[in-house]
Amino acid sequence: MALIVQKYGGSSVATVPRIEHVARKAAATRSAGNDIVVVLSAMKGETDRLLALAYEVSHSQCPAPRELDMLLSTGEQVTIALLTMALERLGVAARCYTGAQVRILTDSSHSKARILDIDEEHLVEDLKLGRIVVVAGFQGVDETGAITTLGRGGSDTTAVALAAALGAGECQIFTDVDGVYTTDPRVVPTARRLDRITFEEMLEMASLGSKVLQIRAVEFAGKYQVPLRVLSSFEEGPGTLITYEVEGMEEPLISSIAFNRDEAKLTILGVPDRPGIAAQILGPVSAANINVDMIVQNISKEGLTDFTFTVHRSEYERALELTQKHAQELGAREVFGDTDIVKLSLVGVGMRSHAAVASRMFTALADEGINIQMISTSEIKISVVVDEKYLELGTRALHRAFDLDDKDGRRVKVEGAEVG
Ligand code: ADP
Ligand code: ASP
Ligand code: MG
Repeated sequence: MALIVQKYGGSSVATVPRIEHVARKAAATRSAGNDIVVVLSAMKGETDRLLALAYEVSHSQCPAPRELDMLLSTGEQVTIALLTMALERLGVAARCYTGAQVRILTDSSHSKARILDIDEEHLVEDLKLGRIVVVAGFQGVDETGAITTLGRGGSDTTAVALAAALGAGECQIFTDVDGVYTTDPRVVPTARRLDRITFEEMLEMASLGSKVLQIRAVEFAGKYQVPLRVLSSFEEGPGTLITYEVEGMEEPLISSIAFNRDEAKLTILGVPDRPGIAAQILGPVSAANINVDMIVQNISKEGLTDFTFTVHRSEYERALELTQKHAQELGAREVFGDTDIVKLSLVGVGMRSHAAVASRMFTALADEGINIQMISTSEIKISVVVDEKYLELGTRALHRAFDLDDKDGRRVKVEGAEVG
């Protein structure tokens, strides 16, 4: 008998008929002879609704982090209780638990807590009694007993962490698309589902903005080699398997295109070009705990240089303020920022040995009249920053340039059909 962890996202539990559909799927997996743990998200839109309430009552100031997590964790508490009731109605024994009840122990970084330990003992007891165990995703508890949350999309991480702790045969992430695609099928309807993708590529995609899996979930899966699959809640199919072994396999040059519109850009013009200047510019930013992503510095002739970097959009105002303050001390000519940017990235382990990828990428963008503002590369990815208005045009152009379109001309159906 295998142990399977199944995670269902917000759209899969958005209505009572959908919750009943999940109950039938879980019951069928159980009847096929498997032990099963189900991890749920809140109903679609619920976390955003709760977040908006918190900001309303705080008059747009940052709500208290401890209380915000207390509030946001309630969305998942609703769905686990409803699913367990639906299972009981089908005559299937089940028990539900919040993260704190399981004791998913985390650190105390509210809204982005990290899982430290999982007390799986009583889950194992339930499974032995033949029950389906239903666990609230996205949440845990710190050692003081405060409820914590794991960051947006964090139910994926709960599922993978439970799969690792319980030694599950497979962790299945059920969502509103039937697998991982060559790019977000909402932007490119001719995107193609991948039967499998390497762990390395999935990690890059998640970190470059593809929201299909939370990055922490992919990291966790890699650390414990959890067999991980992305599938549709609404249609049968094999989904996409995340693989850990690539030796001997012929990899495509590019496997996917990711985009991220959550970044903003800061530029400092005319700073003295001397050793230590980059550290002086970025020192105050990193001291304020603001993560910097891409960095570009030009070589100068006249002893002055220009410096550009990107940060998460939510931290842009703070980064700009800090940089403006310090730029005066540095003797910089001007500091300005731009929030209307998007980062487009090519991902593929196959590009390691091919030098021509970058030029094909830049040509495809140039042919559409898209100006590149920044470039960064690693062994298996190339990212460019362009004006946000080119998100769709740029992604489609790259998708075409690297022959990623579905060969049979199929178009993806993104929203699951109503079930019930
Ligand atoms: P859930 O609520 O089930 O966790 P998410 O919205 O977090 O669902 O993730 C699924 C969504 O991820 C899809 O609807 C799709 O728009 C988006 N997505 C982005 N990039 C990709 C990709 N490469 N392949 C598949 N889906 C992607
Ligand atoms: N409900 C949380 C969110 O909307 C967690 C999740 O769905 O994974 O981000
Ligand atoms: Mg998600």
